[in-house]
Amino acid sequence: MSFHSITYNAKYRFATLHNYGCVFRCPVCSYKLHSGPQGRPGYASPKPARFLSTEEIQAALRPLDLATLYFMGGEPSMARNLPELLAFGKNTLGVRTCLGHCNGWKLDYPHLDAANVGLKAWDEQVHRDYTGREKATIFGNFQRAFEAGMELKANVVYIPGFVGLDQVEAIAAWLGGLSRDIPFHVMGYIPVPGQPYSRPTGEQMAQAVAVCQRHLRNVAMSHLSSEDAKNHAARDDRFAVQKVA
Ligand code: SF4
Repeated sequence: MSFHSITYNAKYRFATLHNYGCVFRCPVCSYKLHSGPQGRPGYASPKPARFLSTEEIQAALRPLDLATLYFMGGEPSMARNLPELLAFGKNTLGVRTCLGHCNGWKLDYPHLDAANVGLKAWDEQVHRDYTGREKATIFGNFQRAFEAGMELKANVVYIPGFVGLDQVEAIAAWLGGLSRDIPFHVMGYIPVPGQPYSRPTGEQMAQAVAVCQRHLRNVAMSHLSSEDAKNHAARDDRFAVQKVA
């Protein structure tokens, strides 16, 4: 799909291009927190009224004081003009380029410096039930990007009864096999409409972090409520952004 808006954080000198659309069909997609189940599995953000052209995006970014350009929203690698915008970020703006949240569908872009990849599950069947796609594409892309020297972080959503401790630890162990220093973030599931799973308890989150720390040195976690998730800016000024296009 394509980018539909741009937000800017002057304090931390970053802009974010927001994409619409995703290649996965996750039943627990967090976008449902804002839009409801909308009668189908997967990405469920309301379709924007219009999309930005490449020229509009470039014109909006040029005057900004920027250190980093992020690409997010659904799966940002789906945007057809991503390669052109990455090149613009590196060659014209001279900034760091990063897929701020992505699912690892495609990472091998020449002008991409960094990516934060959501790894969904370890077992093949769980991965297919979660995403509708095979696991090998994602884990293979991550490994090739790591070996090519890309700056990578990873995260997982811990969903007791669906993506359990065994899945979370297996992903951490696989990452640890690449490098024990890859930053890993365990996110507690935030219940979305129409799904049967519960939010993990504080004790379960502590267990999840502990099993990951067997394999990785840099493990963080977040355990947000639905209300927290709808109002990030109240907790963290990196989310306090202004819309510039
Ligand atoms: S990869 Fe992310 S945006 Fe896409 S459907 Fe899954 S949770 Fe939603």
